[in-house]
Amino acid sequence: MIRRTDLRETPAGTTAAQYRAVLPRAPFDVEAAVAVVRPVVDDVRHRGVDAVLDATERFDHVRRESLAVDPSETRAALDALAPDVRAALEESVTRLRATCEAELEHDVVTEVAPGARVERRIVPVGRVGLYVPGGLAPLVSSVLMNVVPAQVAGVASLALATPPQREFGGAPHPTVLAACALLGVEEVYAVGGAQAIAMFAYGAGPCEPVDLVTGPGNIYVVAAKRLVQSVTGIDSEAGPTEIAILADDTAVPSFVASDLISQAEHDPLAAAVLVTPSAALADAVDAELVRQVPAAKHAERIQTALTSPQSATVLVRDVAQGLDVVNAYAAEHLEIQTADAAAVAARVENAGAVFVGGWSPVSLGDYAAGSNHVLPTAGCACHSSGLSVRSFCKSMQVVTYDEGALREIGPKVVVLAEAEDLPSHGEAVTVRLDAPEEGAS
Ligand code: NAD
Repeated sequence: MIRRTDLRETPAGTTAAQYRAVLPRAPFDVEAAVAVVRPVVDDVRHRGVDAVLDATERFDHVRRESLAVDPSETRAALDALAPDVRAALEESVTRLRATCEAELEHDVVTEVAPGARVERRIVPVGRVGLYVPGGLAPLVSSVLMNVVPAQVAGVASLALATPPQREFGGAPHPTVLAACALLGVEEVYAVGGAQAIAMFAYGAGPCEPVDLVTGPGNIYVVAAKRLVQSVTGIDSEAGPTEIAILADDTAVPSFVASDLISQAEHDPLAAAVLVTPSAALADAVDAELVRQVPAAKHAERIQTALTSPQSATVLVRDVAQGLDVVNAYAAEHLEIQTADAAAVAARVENAGAVFVGGWSPVSLGDYAAGSNHVLPTAGCACHSSGLSVRSFCKSMQVVTYDEGALREIGPKVVVLAEAEDLPSHGEAVTVRLDAPEEGAS
């Protein structure tokens, strides 16, 4: 079912770039999707709300009167929410809020010399656009993952967009709306895909432009986020889901297979990669996949994801080589199911999130671990981080020197300005040093 790549003979000293060249990746990548969404983004930029409505009709097969969802609709959805779903959402929020509050950074003031003060002040982003996927599944959990850290950060203006659903008369999925109401989000747009990202970036109709766009999405959403970066910030390129599992012969094959399947369920473009030194485990996981996949509700989508070029079992010599491989791959989600899993996990350098041991499946993190499920994909975990309270904050430096402090450091500033051949920079200091000292008689 899942193809095999055998790296056991790969020479020691193989570099990360060499590993990346042979590791599985989807042929339809973000760059290819950029070409598809560029006209949509440009159209929204120039024609605003009409372009958003036209794209919605084209891609979501819904023609809405307006982009915005009336807050009374979100409140009604919360009233109708099943109590067990509400209780699960509330528990998830509690855990997520606890980690966000613990991660909140505080202002730092450093007195670098007498009278010379540098403050790093933490300031929330003013207005953010939060994207919640809803093409193949209504990702109600993504409402929490976006909104909770933004609220803990203190963001004043939150807008949320999620695709309209034909089966709900062109409104977003009611559970997504209920989660918005649960968290007090009132500005909700029934818009999905690249047109939603462009609406946030350039503004359209009632939606004012935002300073930052966050949230996961399919390859078109990611491509649009890449395109709008000249006018707005983005969190990371959080695209089609990936799971890599580094497992040895201590792993339970049914656990490994069900975790691969759980992420393949997201998208035909989702990637599921098993990295193992155990051919016996690889065979046993294959057998489990053959048993479990046909019984899954979304068997067709899962089968496509598992049999496409982005998914594979990668055979390695040992766990040490497996670590080199997973560090080169930089998966969105990485599970470690080996002997001494905590020690192995401590050597991971590149992953959006790491799930340690057989009792920490990725699905737990998708919903209720207290971690955030919006994570960088396509190798971006080499340089980007998952969504967190920090994503919604900027740090601003505040510099306050008194006269004595400037007189003390000033000559050195002048020397450096001369060294850079920018004498006017130095003059702005000299003019002060030459002024009569304040308080001098
Ligand atoms: P989505 O909301 O991301 O995308 C749906 C939208 O895509 C539609 O509204 C439509 O406008 C647009 N679209 C569909 N086909 C198009 C086409 N051919 N051209 C242009 N636009 C098109 O929902 P989805 O499709 O279900 O995808 C959700 C994605 O989010 C999955 O890939 C999932 O793996 C991913 N995800 C990622 C993370 C992460 O943190 N990396 C977390 C959760 C989910």
